[in-house]
Amino acid sequence: MANSSDKSTESESRKLLVRLRETLGDEAEGQARLDHITHLIADSISTEVCSIYLFRDDETLELCSSEGLKAEAVHQTRMRLGEGLVGRVAKKGQLVNTADAPKEPGFRFMPETGEEIYSSFLGVPIQRLGETLGVLVVQSKIARTFSDDEIYALEVVAMVLAEMAELGAFVGEGAALSARHQQPVMIRGSVAQEGTAQGQVYLHEPRVVITNPVADDPEAERIRLHEAVDTLRISVDQMLAGASTGDKEQMQVLEAYRMFANSKGWMRRMEEDIARGLSAEAAVEKEQSIARARMSQVPDPYLRERLHDLDDLSNRMLRILTGQGKDTGAEMPANPILVARNIGPGELLEYGRSLKGIVLEEGSVGSHATIVARALAIPLVIHASRITTEALNGDHILVDGEQGIVHLRPDDSVETAFSDKMAMQTSAAERYSSIRDKPAITRDGTEITLSMNAGLMADLPSLNSSGAQGVGLFRTELQFLVRNQMPKRGELVELYKRVLNAADGQRVVFRTLDIGSDKVLPYMKPQDEPNPAMGWRAIRLGLDKPGVMRMQLQAFIRACEGRPMSVMFPFVAQFDEYRVARSILEKELENEARLGHILPERVEVGAMLETPSLAYAPQQFFEMCDFISVGGNDLKQFFFAADRENELVRKRYDTLNVSFLSFLENIVERCNSTQTPISFCGEDAGRPIEALCFAAMGFRVLSMRPASIGPVKHLLRRVDLAEAKQVIDAARESGAQSVRPAVQEWLATHLAANP
Ligand code: PEP
Ligand code: MG
Repeated sequence: MANSSDKSTESESRKLLVRLRETLGDEAEGQARLDHITHLIADSISTEVCSIYLFRDDETLELCSSEGLKAEAVHQTRMRLGEGLVGRVAKKGQLVNTADAPKEPGFRFMPETGEEIYSSFLGVPIQRLGETLGVLVVQSKIARTFSDDEIYALEVVAMVLAEMAELGAFVGEGAALSARHQQPVMIRGSVAQEGTAQGQVYLHEPRVVITNPVADDPEAERIRLHEAVDTLRISVDQMLAGASTGDKEQMQVLEAYRMFANSKGWMRRMEEDIARGLSAEAAVEKEQSIARARMSQVPDPYLRERLHDLDDLSNRMLRILTGQGKDTGAEMPANPILVARNIGPGELLEYGRSLKGIVLEEGSVGSHATIVARALAIPLVIHASRITTEALNGDHILVDGEQGIVHLRPDDSVETAFSDKMAMQTSAAERYSSIRDKPAITRDGTEITLSMNAGLMADLPSLNSSGAQGVGLFRTELQFLVRNQMPKRGELVELYKRVLNAADGQRVVFRTLDIGSDKVLPYMKPQDEPNPAMGWRAIRLGLDKPGVMRMQLQAFIRACEGRPMSVMFPFVAQFDEYRVARSILEKELENEARLGHILPERVEVGAMLETPSLAYAPQQFFEMCDFISVGGNDLKQFFFAADRENELVRKRYDTLNVSFLSFLENIVERCNSTQTPISFCGEDAGRPIEALCFAAMGFRVLSMRPASIGPVKHLLRRVDLAEAKQVIDAARESGAQSVRPAVQEWLATHLAANP
């Protein structure tokens, strides 16, 4: 229970908040409203000075209104982030409370303000959802520190100010008052799918807008809060009851939800805020804002995840309280660019090809959402920090999936440069489509087969549009990943039939399930492995638990309906694994024949070479293998011992590093000696210079994303392969670390001579 003095401060701050709210109904323009507010606060807290500083741009704060400081300083006094006490509050997102401001480290004297006569200083950040919009400051002549109650009152006021700013209450005359969400922002992230797009922001989880931060009747708000928490608890309990007990991670998240929903501290803090005049939703958002601010500062990934959970929970609460669902009725704009913190592959598939681009705050290059975005050829930028707080539905946005840059609300010069870039890409695309039906033959007459990688039904139209010569890698796990339960054999048969029908007689290489590592099926018991990329995955799992693999092999056989069949096993590390897997397939063929199914007219059984060990397998392995496909993504990560998912090391080693190229050349030589067909199907095959170097090392079949076929073919048709090989050999002999500079230099002159 609050004691009587608490009660009196509660009613004081409530009075202040009610007066603040009244200013929202004012006719006044932005500046007049701000001035009214600083006057009100100084009056209520009995300080001589109250000032509001707002960000003018990402780095600069501007004094936008003041009661007590010299009027001529308003809109003149500016400070950089981190500069002076105000800058410190903004930078750290934490309050400064001092009895003797001039003695504080970092204090900066600003003569134009006349503030030298004020000794005590209290500055609190004006924050909304972890984003600092400005600083609210009170100062007085007597040297004293401000009490907890005063701090509290000012923090609550700051939060209401943030809400008002979000609602555009301070927008009006004066550019410095324009809300932050109206200024251009550039965010640098990482590329997950190349391409450029421009359009309007479409938020995957739109922010709940609070229109009533201040309430008149605290008791009614308290009841609303409790009802909302009860609703939340029931829904969390239902989710827990419905969750599969095998899924440890899902259970952990839900338990964390339950913990917060029952947390006394969380409830108490929100009740205190309500007692001081906030509405129930504003109280929830205040807690959410604090959690968000902490999120960026907590290094421990586990704790950060829990803060994320609290953030999600707060969103749920806000939706319950405001009645705003996930679907706020915001219409999908004409050129939607999806903006989200993260997204699952299933959700992304639901949006489908309607999206022009995707920007994620988190995400990873190897995630399933990325795989889906690639399959749909939608430009995707990940690791775009702050995008979900900066972007509003409908904002104009440019996605540069070549550089990994996002421009939000761009100014005209950026817009023009970007349009030029897009026009150039369109003309390149036209050039590629003009060679779609032509072969990839080098100037000196070597033909390279370019096939495509696929994994979703959404990929199939690309078979025609890209000019791909069949499917060199069909990743079957995607069909398993986007479902909530194990698909049935009959469903798989239908799916694989559709793929073969779309290929219309061209070769389709089905890869058996490559799960484990980052690809965890939601309905399979997760393994607690310290290093899943080197763990129980792909063929290892298939051989130890052959039930699913058998079912898949049966589905391939039936889907072929007598047509030729190509199957390969992923992640083979030694001969025996291939031999056993092949014998399982042979047994299935016998069984299927016995059951009366038509057998494929021809069966080719391949292995993916993704671990260095397999390159040194006995000769008999190469003889037994019908074909080998180099999985360069995995092979490279194990060759260099550099995790393909780890941004810190992923780009450290160049694919055109001489060691890796020579290793690939050895593999080709071994395959040639046994006449085992060999192809390359990792991502690098889709990069033109890499593709050229692989061809120079002897690869004659490359499998890549459909969008890469045009650019790769365009380059191959313009070069002399023997000359390329000479350039590579000379670079290798010169002791270079990578052949890239030499090849690039040669291409620059060679292509100029052969446009
Ligand atoms: C590879 O490792 O290169 C490959 C094609 O397989 P995935 O990317 O599916 O692991
Ligand atoms: Mg692989």
